[in-house]
Amino acid sequence: MTPLRAAAPGPLPNIPVYRPDLSGNERRYVLECLDTTWISSLGGFIERFEGAVRAATGAEHATGLCNGTVALHLALHCLGVGPGDEVIVPTFTYIASVNTIAQCGATPVFADCREGDWLLDPADAAARITPRTKAILPVHLYGAACDMRALGALAKERGLGVVEDCAEAFGTTLDGRHVGTFGDVGTFSFFGNKTITTGEGGMVISRDGALAERMRIVRGQGQSPTRRYWHEVLGFNYRMTNIVAAIGLAQIERLDAILARKRALAARYEALLRGLPVAFQRPMDGVESSHWLVSVLLPPGADRDAVQKEMAARGVDTRPVFFCAHEMPMYAKGERFPVAEDIAARGLSLPSYPTLSDSDMDRVADALGAALRGQGLA
Ligand SMILES: *Cc1c(COP(=O)(O)O)cnc(C)c1O
Repeated sequence: MTPLRAAAPGPLPNIPVYRPDLSGNERRYVLECLDTTWISSLGGFIERFEGAVRAATGAEHATGLCNGTVALHLALHCLGVGPGDEVIVPTFTYIASVNTIAQCGATPVFADCREGDWLLDPADAAARITPRTKAILPVHLYGAACDMRALGALAKERGLGVVEDCAEAFGTTLDGRHVGTFGDVGTFSFFGNKTITTGEGGMVISRDGALAERMRIVRGQGQSPTRRYWHEVLGFNYRMTNIVAAIGLAQIERLDAILARKRALAARYEALLRGLPVAFQRPMDGVESSHWLVSVLLPPGADRDAVQKEMAARGVDTRPVFFCAHEMPMYAKGERFPVAEDIAARGLSLPSYPTLSDSDMDRVADALGAALRGQGLA
């Protein structure tokens, strides 16, 4: 028999920016929903998942929802944000943080972010308060935590509501406290690329029992908790299904392992990229980041599109950080936010999923180095 020739090495598989790890009890719990026919928004997994989120965050109340955008809308709506009100929000954020303010009929008032941690600048937020300001919406981007010491003090002094957008910060703490527990409401997303994922899903957490009860009622069409088909307040259908909660419960069972691996990824990227002219997000003292997406600022003058193309040619997917919301046509008023604009122009997120192997991280680092050298920047 002729010996088989070793196959020629084909191109290495593409490294995506994110990929959920569903290797725990996800399959078993979902099959349990199907086998028992509890596939809708009633069923045991919803309360178990809500309980697991309370345990993981230290929040008193948690309510499961169908995504992270409606979590923001529900929180703002139930805090009474409406027409004529202003809400202060960083311009450097995902668009949902801004759109949900507008969906309430209120006006988003943009603020700049800080250079080191890329997050809402409390001094700039303070400068933008007017008699119409109703709330502040800090966004904990990329796994870091906003300066909730300063923002909490500001909100208290000026009598403002606080909704923390924690979509990218499951597992993040400041001074040992989980994000989302500083303000009136914390909101989470469990989209397919978030640290804990259910495909699509969301949650609100709160310490205020009355507010939590209001959010629970409004989530379910505003139905009276004591009388079916009796509706005393305007409501929405923002419910989570049992199948989604089943996946979420299986995910959160492995939270510690997921966070440990993400910490290791972040530390390893720091070591691998030490010789390159890139800057990492630097959370303030007291923050334990959950490192949602490890992101770097390319050096001034770098052509980010070309860097991404060059890395893609080497099988490495990357994504730009968010564009600033004040530059979107429906919000553009010609204002300038120098720090946010600079970060938005230079930021690049690297593959950061928990099952990313060390050898694939080496490929990412090599590809970034080659792309920067190609532009004479390294
Ligand atoms: C993902 C995300 C959201 C929205 O979550 P969805 O579940 O996709 O609706 C909101 N804010 C930020 C900062 C996000 O990253």
